[in-house]
Amino acid sequence: MLETSKKLFDRAKQFIPGGVNSPARAFSSVGGTPVFFEKAEGSILTDVDGKEYIDYVGSWGPMILGHSYEPVLKAVQEAAAKSTSFGAPTEIEVKMAELVQKMVPGVDKIRMVNSGTEACMSAIRVARGYTGKDKIIKFEGNYHGHGDSFLIKAGSGALTLGAPSSPGVTEGTAKDTLVADYNNLHSVKELFNEHQDEIAAIIVEPVAGNMGCIPPQKGFLPGLRELCDANDAVLIFDEVMTGFRVAKGGAQERYGVTADLVTYGKIIGAGLPVGAFGGKQEIMDVVSPVGPVYQAGTLSGNPLAMAAGYALLSGLQEDPLKYDKLEEKTTYLFTGLKEAFTDYGIPTTINRVGSMMSVFFTEEEVFDFNTANTTDKEFFKNFFHEMLDRGIYLPPSAFESFFLANSLTDEMLDQTIEAADQSIQSVKKRINY
Ligand SMILES: *Cc1c(COP(=O)(O)O)cnc(C)c1O
Repeated sequence: MLETSKKLFDRAKQFIPGGVNSPARAFSSVGGTPVFFEKAEGSILTDVDGKEYIDYVGSWGPMILGHSYEPVLKAVQEAAAKSTSFGAPTEIEVKMAELVQKMVPGVDKIRMVNSGTEACMSAIRVARGYTGKDKIIKFEGNYHGHGDSFLIKAGSGALTLGAPSSPGVTEGTAKDTLVADYNNLHSVKELFNEHQDEIAAIIVEPVAGNMGCIPPQKGFLPGLRELCDANDAVLIFDEVMTGFRVAKGGAQERYGVTADLVTYGKIIGAGLPVGAFGGKQEIMDVVSPVGPVYQAGTLSGNPLAMAAGYALLSGLQEDPLKYDKLEEKTTYLFTGLKEAFTDYGIPTTINRVGSMMSVFFTEEEVFDFNTANTTDKEFFKNFFHEMLDRGIYLPPSAFESFFLANSLTDEMLDQTIEAADQSIQSVKKRINY
């Protein structure tokens, strides 16, 4: 098994750091060889050895209507035949901006970029330019891409400034990022008290997905809205993961809270490299060439990427029932897995929002970074590999969310629950649970 993947991984490691172009793919936290893929259709992935898997990663989100979704393939092929890029305006960019504006609340204007990272970096620059203030607040365990300002962890002791979480990020950058606890309004209030008139923005994953799936507790998002209003700070929802997923209008629609700026990625590009940031007219008008805040991109709004994104978003926009069906599928899987774990006496907390879901192997309620960390990582690692052997492709980390797709059939979900049942038995035997 994985014979060709192993050979490719060995070759890759000679020329690519760790053999991968993004670290989450390297299987570092579960061990073993990352699977190299050949093709995919709907929810079935085929690896380079010809083995098939049911997909719960969906390229980390974009494949919400399944792989090789016909309208996207067709749109990309048609666009490619005309030119892969002009570096000049095209009609599809206008259509895309109009469509997003129609689908989500509060986005008067939007600018396309090439990744979620770029969208978040740009959003905080805009917030700083708009408010004339330097500091931002982010939450421990939230991820906003690999921009320097976000690779910051809580410093030691309450109310201290952030510290770089990666070498190469300077202390100078770290001092402008303050770190609060997710679902803890009190920790945010304290930062505002300590740094009055210095805070330009709060950036938050409105549903956390990068420490496993953690929903916002009641009052958390409205509380952030109020704190931003009271302190003249910009509220940024990082909807790179939740945008067009937890509802047609993202978390803003699902929770009825409108941010000032929103960032997108993942689904918006349908699997091509796209990010976007948008929001209130007054704030977006500081962006160049209208305003003084510089932001640019040679390939931004690329015609292939826009065609792909437009086709996928149109599919979601035209049939809102797709979200109900997705929710049903996810509830079905949730219930099946919950029963399986309970039957074998494995303590689990399963968090779910829409079609995002995570299994934490813990007795605790999981509502922030610390409680997420109580998950039994050893159990996850073993469970992951048992599932992989049985042809179920889960995210290769205990701290990632499953992403379900509309292309999952009832049979696939049943097969997954059956595989989980068998996997739990094997893991229990193997690690003497
Ligand atoms: C994936 C992700 C990003 C980064 O997007 P990239 O396209 O990988 O740069 C930012 N924020 C959130 C919430 C994400 O899930």
